[in-house]
Amino acid sequence: MFDLETGRINDWIRDGGFDSVALQFPEGLKLRALEMSDFISNNTGAKAVILGHPCYGACDVFSDYRRYATALIHFGHSPIPSLGKDENVLFIEVKASPDIADAVRRAASTLPRKVGILATVQYVGLIGDARKILEEEGKTVHVGIGDPRIFHPGQVLGCNFSAASAVEGEAEAFLFLGEGDFHPLAAAFGSDKKVIVLNPMTGEARSVDDIRDRLLRRRFAAIESSKNAERFLIIVCGKVGQNRSSAADDLTEKLTERGKKTYRVVLDEITPDALLHYDADVYVSTACPRIAMDDSARYKRPMLTIPEAEIAAGIRAWDEYEFDSI
Ligand code: SF4
Repeated sequence: MFDLETGRINDWIRDGGFDSVALQFPEGLKLRALEMSDFISNNTGAKAVILGHPCYGACDVFSDYRRYATALIHFGHSPIPSLGKDENVLFIEVKASPDIADAVRRAASTLPRKVGILATVQYVGLIGDARKILEEEGKTVHVGIGDPRIFHPGQVLGCNFSAASAVEGEAEAFLFLGEGDFHPLAAAFGSDKKVIVLNPMTGEARSVDDIRDRLLRRRFAAIESSKNAERFLIIVCGKVGQNRSSAADDLTEKLTERGKKTYRVVLDEITPDALLHYDADVYVSTACPRIAMDDSARYKRPMLTIPEAEIAAGIRAWDEYEFDSI
């Protein structure tokens, strides 16, 4: 069901004349790593090296791959255009193509007339099918072009919902093709419109309103508990696609103006253990928003995003809350 595009990999390695290839997989695809390593050695003669580092997105692309191989294949994500292009790096997006016709028809009855379609990378190939069916059901469909961090029309990353913002003026609601909560939540926070999530693998459609409200209550509790914080530890991620040093500079300046003490730590992997020794009142992650939104309960101090830290320090008002995006 999920396409690892072995034919394309084979041609790319042979055409490029690569004698060694580093393979990078997100956690959910590591089970296929040995199979792909075998495929490459047996079919192309190139040496395959599996990179075992944790990998969460194209923001994690292992730019130092030349220490181990002449080329890199990154599985499970699309390129981030704003990070530039390297001819020796191939992205295999691992798309799926289940039949979603009946599920989209069912979902259509719950949607208003003007609909935006969004998807995670695995399902962007289904946007055309979904569009056709919704139009047959009498809907006007909008698919937004995201900013330079976004590769496909309609694609949403957990840190970027610009494809939703692009058509927010036209769409009355969004149909989101994807699994899990984090990506649709980014879209739900990033726009005022209703988001219906359709899981293309199960055909189940659901709203994320309840999950969004629960998460918002947790975030407001974290902000509230940071109101009297004096020492802010600003975390900057060293990963190429998550590094936001200038946003950290900007926040540092604003917090300093408010009389707060700031510290900065640079990390590649942000974990509770990595922060154990820094006795700040609050952590502020300038990296992937998921660290604060999904994982904050694991940390011994409140973990805030940049807009949340600004609310805690009185730099912005509560009603100016927004989902952090990169
Ligand atoms: S920063 Fe987070 S949400 Fe954005 S691409 Fe990376 S892992 Fe995904």
